[in-house]
Amino acid sequence: MKTKFKIIYIVTIFLIIITSIILCILNRKPIIKLHGDETIYLELNQKYEEPGYEARYIHKDITDKVKIKSNLNNQKIGYYKIEYKVNFGKKTYKKIRNIKVIDSTTPVINLLGSGTIEMCPNDKYTELGFNAFDKFDGDVTSKVESLVEDDTVYYYVENSLGKKTMTERKIVRQDTDEPTIELEGYQSSVLYKGSTYFEPGYKATDNCDGDITDKVQITGNINTNKVGKYKLVYNVSDSAGNITSIDRIINIIEKPDKNQKTIYLTFDDGPSNSTEKILDILKEENVKATFFIINADEKYDSVIKRAYDEGHTIGLHSYSHKYKSIYKSEEAFFDDLELINDKVRKITGYPANIIRFPGGSSNTISRISRGLMTKLSISTKEKGYIYYDWNIASNDTSSISSKKVYKNVISGLKYNTNIVLMHDFANNKKTINALRDIIQYGKKNGYEFDKITEMTPQIKHEIRN
Ligand SMILES: [Zn+2]
Repeated sequence: MKTKFKIIYIVTIFLIIITSIILCILNRKPIIKLHGDETIYLELNQKYEEPGYEARYIHKDITDKVKIKSNLNNQKIGYYKIEYKVNFGKKTYKKIRNIKVIDSTTPVINLLGSGTIEMCPNDKYTELGFNAFDKFDGDVTSKVESLVEDDTVYYYVENSLGKKTMTERKIVRQDTDEPTIELEGYQSSVLYKGSTYFEPGYKATDNCDGDITDKVQITGNINTNKVGKYKLVYNVSDSAGNITSIDRIINIIEKPDKNQKTIYLTFDDGPSNSTEKILDILKEENVKATFFIINADEKYDSVIKRAYDEGHTIGLHSYSHKYKSIYKSEEAFFDDLELINDKVRKITGYPANIIRFPGGSSNTISRISRGLMTKLSISTKEKGYIYYDWNIASNDTSSISSKKVYKNVISGLKYNTNIVLMHDFANNKKTINALRDIIQYGKKNGYEFDKITEMTPQIKHEIRN
């Protein structure tokens, strides 16, 4: 019995071993082994070079049975696969190699705003912005790190391949802009003798330092007890040493007698080739007058300067004197007025504050813009201008003789404040010829002649729009 059992036992073990060997042999798979990395990064347009592979079945080399399938396109960034395949029996065995076609040139950082920026010495840098792109990772803006150190802003970004880019922005800390001083009140004004001068105020601002009004220094003296022209100089320096200077002219004039009758000769529409002749007569007669000017050829700039230097008032009439454009709107009116005032400021050094509306404040041509003159009568004042119409018209624009011009003027003299409208257009012989007679008539009949200043009673027409 014992021996019988032993034989069965051995046979069973034997059968198990044989079966195992047979199953083992039946289950044996081919093996594919890839040389090189399983994932390969390929530069765009770079030729792919197969690092090699081998395939074995048990000990048998079946490399030549491997079939390769690939969708690789090295001209396009993307993810591709190379499939190494071997068929064995009814089964297929395969191995995959990943190919990533990339452009691994470093990511690019684009700075918004200039690469070199100017800043005030004490200003804190505020990031102007940037973005960063990488051909592999796409938008990597959020990965950008920035750092401000001294006068440089550094930007740094790294893509997922470890490629780095660094760029920088330079900060130039300097203040080269001059401060500005704005004067309250008129830059050129008039005061009666014996009165007190009150500083109308001023404000100084600087692009870097802000309000520096308290740093303004005023030099110059005004003797209000003595008739004359006085100059106050307002100086200010910012912390970087940029200096601005502006001055104010104060004319101290004799206070007129309340009962004094005064003639204010005004000349519109100049300068022209008539201006010098008018100025010559005024000079010979020692009479001051007012010129309401329009834009004219540059050659007349010196004539305006002469009129100013000889003590006449340079008033503003219009730059274009084109009713349809200046009376289109309030804005159009002031755009035009500021143009002519810029010209005056350039020629004389001082802006004008006395104005005369083309056609007078009573004009109806401005009705193209309803209520415009009503509005302008208020807004001109708000902007620091005073407008003057006239109460005596010489009618020198119509075809009349110089005698008639003279008569028109002297027959109109019935006020204390007589504002006479005349014109300074080209070749205006009738006015030039009548002028001296008008002046001499006035002098003989107790009139004084004066220029218009902001102290002159405002002669206004009735507004009809
Ligand atoms: Zn005019």
